[in-house]
Amino acid sequence: MSAKGTYDGPVRVGTIRPSQAIHSYGVGSLIDLPNLSVMVGGLDRWDTTRQEVITEDRLLDAVRTRLGSQVEVLRALPAEPSTPNPYDDWARVGVPVSIFPRWLRCTACNRLFPVASGALKLDTNMYRPDRTRYTHPNCDKARKPPPAVPARFVAGCTNGHLDDFPWVRFAHDGVATCPNPVLQVNDIGSGGRATDLLVKCLSCGAKSTLAKAFGPAAKGVMPQCRGRHPHLGLASEPCGEQLRSLVLGASNLWFNSSVSVLSLPVGGGSLGQLVYDNWDALEGMPGKDTLVYTLGRDRLLAAAFAGVHPDDMWDAIEARRAGATALPGADVHGPEWVALTSGSQGQTSPHFEAEPIDAPADFAGKLAGVTLAHRLRVVTALCGFSRISAGEPGDPRATVRLETKAHPPGCR
Ligand SMILES: [Zn+2]
Ligand SMILES: [Zn+2]
Ligand SMILES: [Zn+2]
Repeated sequence: MSAKGTYDGPVRVGTIRPSQAIHSYGVGSLIDLPNLSVMVGGLDRWDTTRQEVITEDRLLDAVRTRLGSQVEVLRALPAEPSTPNPYDDWARVGVPVSIFPRWLRCTACNRLFPVASGALKLDTNMYRPDRTRYTHPNCDKARKPPPAVPARFVAGCTNGHLDDFPWVRFAHDGVATCPNPVLQVNDIGSGGRATDLLVKCLSCGAKSTLAKAFGPAAKGVMPQCRGRHPHLGLASEPCGEQLRSLVLGASNLWFNSSVSVLSLPVGGGSLGQLVYDNWDALEGMPGKDTLVYTLGRDRLLAAAFAGVHPDDMWDAIEARRAGATALPGADVHGPEWVALTSGSQGQTSPHFEAEPIDAPADFAGKLAGVTLAHRLRVVTALCGFSRISAGEPGDPRATVRLETKAHPPGCR
């Protein structure tokens, strides 16, 4: 992950596993780092030159069924092998994130500042990304600049919009007339509830408790939604919903919407499968001469096809172009059911190998069949996400898009 720092270039702030980038920390989700809260940026900000193309026709078809035919390709997460030197190229490759919420609280003076106010300073550490944090350099309550932590609340609506909590308006009880608001938050009561918080304006003396931002009382306090999608920047869209207060770190801030397929053998034998798996490199090959030339220069491609004669390779490429190895796409689960019940039947694939076996003696007569799967690969594409409620699977109204363009490509 990398975030825009105060100096040129992105700063590494943490690490996530590939499966997390689909299931927990996908585009539009918030990641709670040791000292920062960040949001995963929209696909517009991703560097596709660092993202390998994944050939999985059945998955691409399934994604297109959900999002539209304009989806061009599926891409893997950006990745580059790391070295011990954090100033090397790999450290600038990653999933783009930005600070969210954009309000932070100084842990010494308890004042609230928007990041854009300039009152806070980003301390980066190239060798220890987890120590990246904001501090309050001019704090009158501490000699060394104390750390600032993310504000505890954000706001959003059921259309999937997310925004900063309206701190200024809320402290002034819905009327933002204060010319120079200076906000401070303090815990009140001993119940330890998140909402036992008093926010007051040090400039005019106005104050309000956070309990008012939740439950029936919130109706009179919370403003209308501005239609913001922070993962897409500051642009807004019309929205008729009222903002709801949300607790930072709550599980209802992001629900993924994804689709998965099993990588089934594509037919055409092992060569057909190899051509399919390397289709991104072979698709645009204009002729056999270019293929031979490319094999002489591209070591990875040559290694993948070691021992295969270019003539046979070219025949397999033409066969795929002619649709000989294409799989029917409309039905995702049908072909998987057939493959799982009948096994690979001699079709070679590095991603799928299964064989029907006899049911254990105790279950003979009770089970219609048992398949032993030696190898399975599941490929998952993130299609979008929703907030506040998970929504029905595949319901396009509940799905927030992953990039500014109306139609996102899926990613692995
Ligand atoms: Zn301070
Ligand atoms: Zn005020
Ligand atoms: Zn909204």
